[in-house]
Amino acid sequence: MICRLCNREASFFKEGIILNKYNIKYYFCDHCRFLQTEYPYWLNESYESSINPFDTGLVKRNIDLSRKISIMLYYYFNRKGKYLDYAGGCGLFTRMMRDIGFDFYWKDKYSTNILAKGFEYNNKDDIDAVTVIEAFEHFVKPVEEIESILKISSNIIFTTELLPGEIPKLLNWWYYGQEHGQHVSFYSSDTLAYIANKYGLNFITDGRIHLFTKRKINKTMYSILLKTSEFGSAGIITKKMKSKTASDMELMQSGKFKES
Ligand SMILES: [Zn+2]
Repeated sequence: MICRLCNREASFFKEGIILNKYNIKYYFCDHCRFLQTEYPYWLNESYESSINPFDTGLVKRNIDLSRKISIMLYYYFNRKGKYLDYAGGCGLFTRMMRDIGFDFYWKDKYSTNILAKGFEYNNKDDIDAVTVIEAFEHFVKPVEEIESILKISSNIIFTTELLPGEIPKLLNWWYYGQEHGQHVSFYSSDTLAYIANKYGLNFITDGRIHLFTKRKINKTMYSILLKTSEFGSAGIITKKMKSKTASDMELMQSGKFKES
């Protein structure tokens, strides 16, 4: 099959059982080192519930990421800038970042905004950086999605689990998510470097939180900075930022908020 990321020939890698019933094929592209399922005809069934019931890590992951991404935004970006959580799901991350004090907005083609109502992105304002949390692995058309994110901002902060170094040994990896079938695209570090190169961006990662940006950021410093969140550094930022929890409520009460 043709690689959905770089359009070269991808070769058969393994078979797997999706949703306990569909026997499907995975293909690996040697050129961009991207692993992908065959065309995912099963997605309607996979997305019957907008929150994946197997994702028990949803809240814990958002707490952890809100701390690390606060540190990133505080030191590398504009503390008063506007940010967008793309594929923002139920709005949890947008709400948490606003609670810390960052001016975050929500956008999602597929989900309903429950927790960040009133803060939907208007598709106009300048955005300093877009966050894309656990969504790249869901992209059926990764090139189209990435290009539409890049139209919003050239700074993309994102998470998706990286393929381990030795792909051929990858027989049973939890991230395949075969029980729900929503994960269809798997990126190696080389794949992300390939994408960054294609769009003239730098690719920086600590192995968990990835960044595409035109800026020059020291990779070692980036990893150290994010690591400090494990020792409570995000708490200092939370104290320095002004939380939007109360002012958002006033905004809602003022009647400026319209149900969208
Ligand atoms: Zn490829």
